[in-house]
Amino acid sequence: MSTVLEQSLGRSPVTELKHVGDKLAEKLAKLGIHVIQDLLFHLPLRYQDRTRISPIGSLSPNMDVVIEGDVMLADVVFGKRRSLAVRLQDGTGTITLRFYHFSGAQKNNLQKGARIRCYGEVRRGRAGLELYHPEYQFVDALSDLPTEETLTPIYPSTEGLTQARWRQLMTQVVMLLKKGRALDDLIPQAFLEPYNLPDLRSALLYLHQPPTGANLDELEQNQHPAQKRLIMEELLAHNLSLLKMRAAIQHDHAPVLTESVSLKAAFLANLTFTPTGAQQRVVNEIQQDLSKGYPMLRLVQGDVGSGKTLVAALAALSALEQGYQVALMAPTEILAEQHFKNFQQWFEPLGIELAWLAGKVKGKARVSTLESIATGTAQMVIGTHALFQEEVAFAKLGLAIIDEQHRFGVHQRLALRQKGNEISPHQLIMTATPIPRTLAMTAYADLDTSIIDEMPPGRTPVNTVAIDQQRRDQVVERIRGACLSGRQAYWVCTLIEESEALEAQAAEVTAQALQEALPELNIGLVHGRLKAQEKADIMASFKQGDIHLLVATTVIEVGVDVPNASLMIIENPERLGLAQLHQLRGRVGRGTAESHCVLMYHMPLGDSGKQRIQAMRDTTDGFKIAEIDLQIRGPGEVLGTRQTGLMQMRIADLQRDGYLLDDIQHWAQLCQQQAPQIIEYLIDRWLGENLHYGQV
Ligand code: ADP
Ligand code: MG
Repeated sequence: MSTVLEQSLGRSPVTELKHVGDKLAEKLAKLGIHVIQDLLFHLPLRYQDRTRISPIGSLSPNMDVVIEGDVMLADVVFGKRRSLAVRLQDGTGTITLRFYHFSGAQKNNLQKGARIRCYGEVRRGRAGLELYHPEYQFVDALSDLPTEETLTPIYPSTEGLTQARWRQLMTQVVMLLKKGRALDDLIPQAFLEPYNLPDLRSALLYLHQPPTGANLDELEQNQHPAQKRLIMEELLAHNLSLLKMRAAIQHDHAPVLTESVSLKAAFLANLTFTPTGAQQRVVNEIQQDLSKGYPMLRLVQGDVGSGKTLVAALAALSALEQGYQVALMAPTEILAEQHFKNFQQWFEPLGIELAWLAGKVKGKARVSTLESIATGTAQMVIGTHALFQEEVAFAKLGLAIIDEQHRFGVHQRLALRQKGNEISPHQLIMTATPIPRTLAMTAYADLDTSIIDEMPPGRTPVNTVAIDQQRRDQVVERIRGACLSGRQAYWVCTLIEESEALEAQAAEVTAQALQEALPELNIGLVHGRLKAQEKADIMASFKQGDIHLLVATTVIEVGVDVPNASLMIIENPERLGLAQLHQLRGRVGRGTAESHCVLMYHMPLGDSGKQRIQAMRDTTDGFKIAEIDLQIRGPGEVLGTRQTGLMQMRIADLQRDGYLLDDIQHWAQLCQQQAPQIIEYLIDRWLGENLHYGQV
């Protein structure tokens, strides 16, 4: 007997339960449920209160109720849709039960005089108050049908698994737990005490069978101590898995890169400005990391225009001076190209060999570029994702810089570990999409973070207005005025479909129309379909001021830098996310002239579109924008689909529970010091099959 009790639910397959055969086990496995303990961690989405029978006379719409009464009449009604209407009375009132799908047997059973108990939501229907498709049971007049004693949980499910089935499974599991079957309660009691949280067994029992009188609102908002107990455990598991990943990386060897002396001095002497205090601070933080013998993993956050490129350049010089190669990756060709031009200007005078690699570099050019990277003649390599490809072998890669990290997945980032052969390169990741603190701590717990929180001097904030696109003519006049007085402008076309071809076409049409309306201006067009060289030429003539108005698709989103451009029109801004809008707007406001951004929206605007446009008008602060973005979209979306695997939490919600993260970090430390043996179990319990992510 005792042996059965000792057999942990964490090691008992679900097939140990009654009525669970191979078929059901297979379905459960698809939900990641293999052992009985997994079922316990399959938590209800919400609850229904079926503990009390309500008098029919007391009902009003939208109530979820249990009622009991006698059938007065059951009729098939032929209206717009055929339905079975069953009139029910209990002495306090009457109500209609309506079924749109019903069998002959059902109709026969629901005869006048039958007594039934039903559960459903009250609605206002054709015949006054109605219950649509209620669950019901026949009540035998002689025997008492007990009411439910606990709240009724509703479980997340999958096709072919009814709530009744879930309840049947969970009732068995709860019985096992009540009988005292072993459950690994991993979190030390000492952790929980200050929070006054229940142990695991009590928490799970409570959540699967909340007693009558439990506070439904509290439960539904995940505010109950039993839920908090599990939320904290889940957040802890995630945090520990990231720390584990980080620790694995720190076991790698990386070159010790001391601060550049001669190159840095020469570089700064040529520079037309001096680094801001924030840039200097961040460069120092990076330098500290570079001089350790294990790989740096540092995320530099800086709003658009804060000068991240300079920081990258200074870091690069340390590697170059020690004889190591540097790779700089950007998410788009335009941006990579711009970096390449920039670094040519900065580094060629210092005698540093640069190389350019993108998917479109083909044939002989590609072969010779690859060779220069492999032999090490190319000291600084700049390009797109192409740099990740297997064929690219570096002679001596010391530092990899990734610009605009949010477009790269964690996996791509980690693929870099392989590029340095026996030594791993240091990694510097730069993002202009500020990552809200809550997300940064969880999603990037494997990264150290630096923030450039100061703009270079001489910037003027962008003034943002929203205009209905019916007033397009006024906007066109405004462009004419701005360009004739020596300024330059962007016109950004957006499209719903993710089709580069359609987007390019739309931009072409717009450019033509604008050229007709503004014959005195030079109008350029840039989109993703152009050849790299064409794009580069157009960007160059825009930068030189030969083009007054640049019509573009969202390809100009990141990094493009033309300080004289002070007006930006964004067509259909409601189609874009906040982060993207903020990035786009960051293309203006880079010079000393006052800049304007015109959001030319298309009615009708949905709620989220309105919220986004409002946020853009309210603030130019990237961190505020990011917080609002997180509120509107939630963390999975903000991080991008590639990383959502990480964010699929069962009960925790980073936004709602973000306030717990400081405590979680503390717990994680305690675990490492006092209870290292529970770490693997915890990660396995909560991340289970998602673990591949943690082991990349
Ligand atoms: P981002 O952080 O968006 O990548 P960039 O690195 O492109 O910003 O820098 C934006 C502009 O600011 C560039 O023209 C750059 O030369 C300029 N810049 C960077 N740092 C400074 C500084 N300390 N003083 C003046 N201008 C600077
Ligand atoms: Mg940049």
